[in-house]
Order: sequence, then structure tokens, then C-alpha cells
Amino acid sequence: MKRGDVPELRGDNAGVVAVEAGARHDGFLERLRPAVRERGGSVVIFGMYSGVSADSILKRGLADFCVVGEAEAALPGLAERLISGGGGAFPPGVKWLEPDGGIGFSGPSAAVNTDDMPFLPLPVLTDGRYRKNSFPISIGRPLKWGFALGNRGCRFACRFCTAMTRQSLRKEYRLCSPERLFEEMKYQVERGGRTIISVEDDLFTGDREWTLRFCELLEKSGWATPWIMQTRFDCLDEEVLAALKRAGCAGMTCGMESGSDRVLEALGKRETVETIRRTGKLINKYGFATRYTTMIGSPGETEADARMTAALVRELNPTVVQMSFCTPYADTELAKEAGLRSGGRRFEDPAAGICALSADRLKRMRLKFYAKHYFSLSYLRGHAAGAAKYLIENPRAAAGQNAAFASFVARQALKTAGLRFVSRSAE
Ligand code: SF4
Repeated sequence: MKRGDVPELRGDNAGVVAVEAGARHDGFLERLRPAVRERGGSVVIFGMYSGVSADSILKRGLADFCVVGEAEAALPGLAERLISGGGGAFPPGVKWLEPDGGIGFSGPSAAVNTDDMPFLPLPVLTDGRYRKNSFPISIGRPLKWGFALGNRGCRFACRFCTAMTRQSLRKEYRLCSPERLFEEMKYQVERGGRTIISVEDDLFTGDREWTLRFCELLEKSGWATPWIMQTRFDCLDEEVLAALKRAGCAGMTCGMESGSDRVLEALGKRETVETIRRTGKLINKYGFATRYTTMIGSPGETEADARMTAALVRELNPTVVQMSFCTPYADTELAKEAGLRSGGRRFEDPAAGICALSADRLKRMRLKFYAKHYFSLSYLRGHAAGAAKYLIENPRAAAGQNAAFASFVARQALKTAGLRFVSRSAE
């Protein structure tokens, strides 16, 4: 079976086919649903795409049911209800198309706690499909990624936050038991041969006391496998960083967004440049690998603001930096309050009318930023040795990532050159 083929369905009843799909899978879903319905089954879609675009998915006939919210809460009850053929209400968190063309909704789903969930099945990890390409880190041996989830939800409400990229959007912050998370990490290392764990919470250190307890648990156990996590700068301080280091935390992703207080405020980040700078220096002091995410083209942003972002990145010199274009997806506060629209674009393609800088200008600025940053002496001095070690430890993955990055830069450069040519000839 080729990738994207509809699997062969046997028997009279296809039951329930639940798919975690994205917008790029529309073609697959168009083929899947008739095949499943022919055998009396139902297609259920869950995941971020379903959460954001359920109404449109159902109206286009791509699925029978869409799960909105956390699938772990709604899927078991929905599957039971559909398989048994019983009547009665659907569990909360489900949408469907009514016979009159309206959208039925069973109400918001309950929030699930990680403690109630089983461990991730090992074959999901060991078949090598899942890697954390965005975090190239050298650990002295090949990376075999494990993935775990601990705390869920988020205490903050950034105005650009979208369920397209953050599973926590507008979800209550829930702490798991530190022991449960530790047991799953141990299970993945001891039984699944994982050499590094990525804890996938959107806000890992959102509760200081919880973080210190978790770190103490790992430290006392003599835990020796590196792990990484993601959080915010203002949810870290020196005591927490020292505890993370002793517990084997090797790296972290933090959302920097901008080096301009004005832009941070417009984004509702509730964090200042000074906090980012001070914490970033502490993170460097403890020697963590770092991946910082930034944005340009935010509401009201000027070239001077974008230069401040580049300067802050240069100063903190993270291992990896990602620069995206601010994108007001339909579910963001930016779209709702400020009436801004992404125009169907994704964060790799600047939307029009968000700030005074044109899409062409933003693309050129980003290209220049990447070139200046990754070829700067300070970056090479700080990270070339680590990058070389990563390449030796993971030759295949590193070659693929380098080729993908080179092709991205080349495509952007060609596009930008084309845009410049068009705009110049139009002048
Ligand atoms: S801190 Fe992260 S997860 Fe929380 S609201 Fe902001 S962007 Fe979303």
C-alpha cells in the first residue's frame, strides 16, 4: 500500500475509522469516507484540524463526526456508541452534520488528565516514524526519541495562540503526578531503548513547585537519560534551571516571539524583553541546548522592531532559532478581537495587512536574518562543534535536515529574487 492509499477494508462492517488528519489530508479523506460508508462504518476525525475546522470538514462531507477538544475524552465513548449501534446522546466534544444541513454539537468535552491515560504503546516509538528534527542535539550517541506528555493546558492566553500549533489553547492548566511522568519516561528508556525523551507539554514548568518536585524525583533516582521540554522564559528562574540541569534536562524550546516590548504587548505575550534577556542568559549559564521561536510581521511591527528581534537572538545565541510570520488563524484572539485574517495562509507565508511591511519585504528580511545568524562568527564559535558531533552521531538524520534547510533557503532566495524582479519591473 502506498502512502495516502485508502486501506483495504474487509467484511461488512468497517466499524469506526478514527483518523488524526490535517488539511493536507483532504484528498485522502474524500476517498476514505465512501469506502468506509459502503461497509456501514463511520469516519471520525480528531486532532487540531478537526478542532479548528470541524464545521467545514463536515459540510464538505469528509467525515461523519469530528472530535473537538481533547480526543482522549470523547473518542472512547463515541466509538462505543457507534459500534454498539445504541441510541442516546453523543459524549461531549463531538460535532456532526444534521439532516437539515446544520451542525450538531454535543457540548464542550471534559478535560483529561495525563494520569488517566495509558502509556504510549512502544511500537509507535520504535518503528522510527517519530523524530524531533527541530531539535538537533548531540548526546554522545545516536538519538532515539521517546515522547511523553505530563502537564496539559496553559495558564496564559497569547493573542496569536492557535489550536493549529498548540494543543493547549484555552485549556485549563492541569498538572500530572510527577511519578506518572517519571514512570513513563523510565518505561520508554528501559523497555523501548529510547536514548532521549521529549516531554511535549506546551508549558512544562508552568507550576514552579511541581517542577522542583519532578526534578528532585529524577535526581534522587540517579536518572541519566537526557530529556528536553518546552516552556516560557518567565516560567524559569535560577533555582528551577539548576534543578532541571541536575535532573538531566538537556535542552528546551522557548517562545521568544520578539525583541520589542511594543510587539510583545500587541501579541498579548505578557512578558518583557528584559525577562527574556535575563532568563536567556541564565539558560546559557547552565549550558542547555536551546531552540527559540520568533515571529515577524506582527501587528504594528516595523523594521526597527524586527531588527530588535534579530539583535536579541544574536545576544542569546540559541542552538536553533525559528522565525515565522505572524499568522492570525481564525481561532486566535488576533483574528477575533483585531479582525485580522490569515487569508488561508500558514505561518510560512506572510498574510497581508497585519503590519505595514509587505509580504515581499518580510520574506527578504527573514532570509537575511537566517543567513546572517547561521553564518555569523558568534554562532559558529558557539555551536559548530556541537553541530559536528550531532552529524557524526546521527549522519542520516543530519544529512536529511541539512538538505531540507538548504533547499528551503534556496527556494526562499529564488522566490524572493523573483518577487524583487517583478516589483522592480513594475516600478
Ligand atoms: S504560552 Fe504558548 S501555549 Fe500558552 S497561550 Fe502562549 S503560545 Fe499558547
